[in-house]
Amino acid sequence: MKITLRTKESQQRVIIQTDDGSTPPTMIKFPGQVPQQIALDWSGALDDEKSLKRCPACGCKDMYVSNNFPQITTLVSIALAAVVCLVLIYHKWIIPAAIVLAVVIVLDILIYLFKKPALICYDCRSEFRSMPIGKHHQRWEQGLGERYKRKNS
Ligand SMILES: [Zn+2]
Repeated sequence: MKITLRTKESQQRVIIQTDDGSTPPTMIKFPGQVPQQIALDWSGALDDEKSLKRCPACGCKDMYVSNNFPQITTLVSIALAAVVCLVLIYHKWIIPAAIVLAVVIVLDILIYLFKKPALICYDCRSEFRSMPIGKHHQRWEQGLGERYKRKNS
C-alpha cells in the first residue's frame, strides 16, 4: 500500500509505503517547521475485500479512481518519436525510423499494462495506491469535486 497524505492548510505531502498485508501506521508526522500530525482511523475503513469504504485520514466517504500514469507522458513520447522518425526518413533511414516507432509503441503498451489506478479522497486529496479498488468507486465527478472545493475554500 502506498499512501500520499496532504495537510489541508499547506501543500505539504507525506508518502507512506507498507508491505502487502501489514497495517499502515495510525499516526503520521509531517516534517517541517511547524510539526503536524495526522491520525489515520483504519477501524471500519476497509470492507471485506480490503478496499476502502472511507478515507482513513478525514473520514470522507467520497473517493474517486484516478490513473497513476499521466496521459501527457504518452502524448509527449509519441510526439518525440514522430519528430525523430521524420528526421530519420528525411535522411532515408527507413529501418531505424521503423525501429524507433516500434519501441515507442511497445513502451506505451507496457505503460498501459503496468499503470495502477489510485483512489483519491475528494475532501483531503490523499492518494491510496497498490490496494484493491471496490466496485462502488467511480471516476472523478465534477459535481462532487466542486462541492468539496467550495467546502474547503
Ligand atoms: Zn480524506
